[in-house]
Amino acid sequence: MANESGYPAPVPNADSKPYWEAATREELVLKRCSSCGKHHFPPRHLCPACWSDKLEWTKSAGTGVVYTFTIMQRAPMPVFAQRVPYVVALVDLEEGPRMMANIVGDDALQTTVGERVHVCFEERAGGAKLPQFRRGTR
Ligand SMILES: [Zn+2]
Repeated sequence: MANESGYPAPVPNADSKPYWEAATREELVLKRCSSCGKHHFPPRHLCPACWSDKLEWTKSAGTGVVYTFTIMQRAPMPVFAQRVPYVVALVDLEEGPRMMANIVGDDALQTTVGERVHVCFEERAGGAKLPQFRRGTR
């Protein structure tokens, strides 16, 4: 695979800045609501379950299950042409939230629905890191 730092970097906003800072430290973090106890993703300033503003950042176990996936055959941007075919999956995290990410690694194209995956971090431009997943448990 070509130099991954050539891929575009994430663009943090006020709600997601701590998420991206944690990712750069190779930690996957989620917001958890202190009022109802639910985790959510992507990060918001109000709990999407009960609208409380009593939210805290918590470290995710970084493990989950593939809910569904697709294999990209055409690059959405020219820089990704070197990467096709690749897997885009919806991963149900242990804590509850469902997140979209790539399944990466030499065996990524063998991804199946329902299999366990674990987070890894892919370097992007400017030293940013992007949470992605690999097949199997750590
Ligand atoms: Zn809540």
